Amino acid sequence: MKGRHRAAVRELCKAGRTLSAHGLTPGTSGNISVRVERGYAMSPTNAFLGSLEPEDVSLLDESGEQIGGLEPTKERALHLAFYEQQPEVRAVVHVHSTYAVALSCLEHDDPDNVLRPLTPYAIMRVGRLALAPYARPGSPELVAAVASRAANHRAVLLANHGPIFAAETLAQAIAAIEEIEQAAKLQLLLEGRPIRTLTPNEIANLSP
Ligand code: ZN
Repeated sequence: MKGRHRAAVRELCKAGRTLSAHGLTPGTSGNISVRVERGYAMSPTNAFLGSLEPEDVSLLDESGEQIGGLEPTKERALHLAFYEQQPEVRAVVHVHSTYAVALSCLEHDDPDNVLRPLTPYAIMRVGRLALAPYARPGSPELVAAVASRAANHRAVLLANHGPIFAAETLAQAIAAIEEIEQAAKLQLLLEGRPIRTLTPNEIANLSP
């Protein structure tokens, strides 16, 4: 493995252990990718993210073709949609974490943002969480639904499926995926109660 890939691959394996230890990747769900020079490192298909070894990690060229490691995740096209449309994106994480999936199964009024403004942290780390309509996993329809949002959003919730987040660093993507799970949990806990959401002024105040 080339030196420039080695650090990214190690970071990817560590991120897999973190997500798994935090209970965000039930079974063999969840996938992680990192942009490397002239390509991508990606978690393999049917992998348990808690025990990924560097030699398992898939290496892809710039067009998304596998050039090393095990066969990449079947959800690779969802990751590539963000890389292709946002040149500054360096990492993408997708999970089937319980509360975010629960949120993805609800009806939502605003497909541009399904998160209510409950805490400053969700607004700062996640921003708007757009909804992509349901399509079969692995289908061209699902890829198209994500691709149509990938230019203008970093955070997309796939209906009846789970969240995907693109960031400039893998650490930011992991933090955001954790925050989405927390925000979804809070939103579900509070459902049906009178809620004090943050005001537009309070939200505007959070902008850097
Ligand atoms: Zn998935």
